Amino acid sequence: MNQTEKHRLKIGIPRALYFYKYGPFWTAFLEFLNCDVKISGPTTSVIVEEGTKDANSELCIPIKIYFGHVKNLLSEFPDLDYIFIPRYVSSHKEQFFCPKFLILPEAVKYGLKFDTPIITLEINVKKNSEHESAINFGKILGYNQETMIKAWDYANQKFEEFQDKAYEGDYIELLDELDTNPKHKRKKKKLKQFIPEAIRGKFMVNILVLGHSYNVYETHINRDLIGRLEAMDCNVTTIEKLPKSEFSEKITINEQYHQYWQSEDEILKTARYYLRDGKNTIDGVIFLISFACGPDSLIQEIVMRDMKKRKISYLDLVLDEHSGESGLITRIESFTDMIRRKKYN
Ligand code: SF4
Repeated sequence: MNQTEKHRLKIGIPRALYFYKYGPFWTAFLEFLNCDVKISGPTTSVIVEEGTKDANSELCIPIKIYFGHVKNLLSEFPDLDYIFIPRYVSSHKEQFFCPKFLILPEAVKYGLKFDTPIITLEINVKKNSEHESAINFGKILGYNQETMIKAWDYANQKFEEFQDKAYEGDYIELLDELDTNPKHKRKKKKLKQFIPEAIRGKFMVNILVLGHSYNVYETHINRDLIGRLEAMDCNVTTIEKLPKSEFSEKITINEQYHQYWQSEDEILKTARYYLRDGKNTIDGVIFLISFACGPDSLIQEIVMRDMKKRKISYLDLVLDEHSGESGLITRIESFTDMIRRKKYN
């Protein structure tokens, strides 16, 4: 008997980490399998505090936030059948995800200690094809191979549709649309306009915001960075706005060192694109980095040096649970002012 014949499984997804990238895939995949998907609400100070309390203090802030979202899901939906915690090992044969993604289900299980079972979808193309991953997941829910392959292909198609929409549209709004819970609806924040009305729109600057999707689109922890830049008359572009074809070429740092962290690879490819073909389309780069992130600190130096060599203004912002709003605003305001003076003087 599969679960459609029993009862509709209620599965919770924490709105953190790769939800910001693969959320559209996961929700489509689980909904195809007739699951009732519950997503935790947008990040709040309470969620960050709760996550910080239980996570090891040396962990990066995105993982602490993830812990907070798991706790939030458990308290908002105490009747969940499962919490969905995927394990991303590798989706390209020559690359790995950050080790934190490899151990995420265990880190949550032993870090938080709760009774609701965890259900894991493991993505590891070094070991299994993607369809095999889906089939293994289906065994837990009692679905046959054919259904799981259909579920995977359906989710993939929905994921591609999402990426095409996000290429043109507002990424954060599109992600929010995955959650239909009215309690989680965000009110649009009215951000202070920094540019006097008389000259608004006349001295625009173009900024590339680099970083993991869970830093770039996590508006609580980055203090609405994209919205604030827009309120400072900046056109903002991100990795998601780069044509997909730009991610097919392999990145080699030098003969000894080949880039094998998958997310960092995307960041480096985006940086390289804007150093070559897209050079004249940006005026500055902001790199959002998580405090205590090993992979980020490895490539931060490379990105910074490359940008400086090509005389593209560069700023890095390190995010942690103590990052204050006023410090961030001051830094981005002076950065964009400096670029504006250089560009229009
Ligand atoms: S890549 Fe960095 S920020 Fe992301 S989970 Fe790993 S350590 Fe944390």
